[in-house]
Amino acid sequence: MIYNLGSINADHLYRLEHLPAPGETLAAESYTLGLGGKGANQSVAIARSGAKVRHIGAIGADGRWMLERLEAAGVDCAHVCEVEGASGHAIITVDAGGENAIVIHAGANREIAESHVKQALDGAGAGDALILQNETGLQVEAARFAQEQGLFVIYSAAPFDAEATRAVLPFVSLLIVNEIEAAQLCSALGVTLGELEVENVLVTLGAKGAVWHDVARGHEIRVKGFPVEAVDTTGAGDTYTGYLVASLSEGLAVDEAMRVAAAAAALKVTRSGTADAIPTGAEVADFLS
Ligand code: ATP
Repeated sequence: MIYNLGSINADHLYRLEHLPAPGETLAAESYTLGLGGKGANQSVAIARSGAKVRHIGAIGADGRWMLERLEAAGVDCAHVCEVEGASGHAIITVDAGGENAIVIHAGANREIAESHVKQALDGAGAGDALILQNETGLQVEAARFAQEQGLFVIYSAAPFDAEATRAVLPFVSLLIVNEIEAAQLCSALGVTLGELEVENVLVTLGAKGAVWHDVARGHEIRVKGFPVEAVDTTGAGDTYTGYLVASLSEGLAVDEAMRVAAAAAALKVTRSGTADAIPTGAEVADFLS
């Protein structure tokens, strides 16, 4: 089983002629409401791949529709609780040229109790995995507890936060970052990637693919991206992470898991949208055959 302590956000997307200036009131040309949050996207990717995923998170009463979407995708939501106040949400404004300005409110995502996390992980052990990102609270507590129980702990360190990453790293088996986050982390900690105190680091490189650094053994595995016509790269990283973790937990070798993840992410970038655009395991298998 893969456990995911992850954010669940309502993405409110407004398309506008231009981004509003201070003091300006603008009518949007269109509005869409979608399921988002790095955690939710990764759970959807894992579930679509066919692997079992239990999401650990929180929503407000306004977020029940998001729970239904996650369940419809095949995510086990028995440990998503409802708390007082608003669900996590993002106000995303995009202008005619594709430039965006985004406001995020963590809301319920930061209201998850430690007892709730431990209860959700009850019975988990060796052979199971826990994945975390930076949009909830309790990463250190959850990662420490999971490591003690023998789980493989994966940390997708986005949105980037140097202090949060430094604190959680001792309990992590696999750190996943993109190129920019890797550079920010090394600069903040004053080390090279090979000097990070973590067993494995996976750096995604956009269209170029990704590189897995086996820090403990000092070698790396590089797997290229698939050349595709990119339409919308939002959620490429979450799709990659979800498929990588699912493939590893099914017992695939690292290079093979990276190939499956790259295929899933390549398919995602050919479609617009985030959670809804994540391909199924059957679509990924077709793409690879
Ligand atoms: P995002 O924040 O947009 O979700 P990210 O910055 O976390 O993405 P990237 O490194 O941009 O992550 O992309 C993750 C993976 O998606 C890459 O390793 C690659 O396999 C795939 N990918 C991204 N962009 C492309 C592209 N243009 N063509 C093919 N594959 C892509």
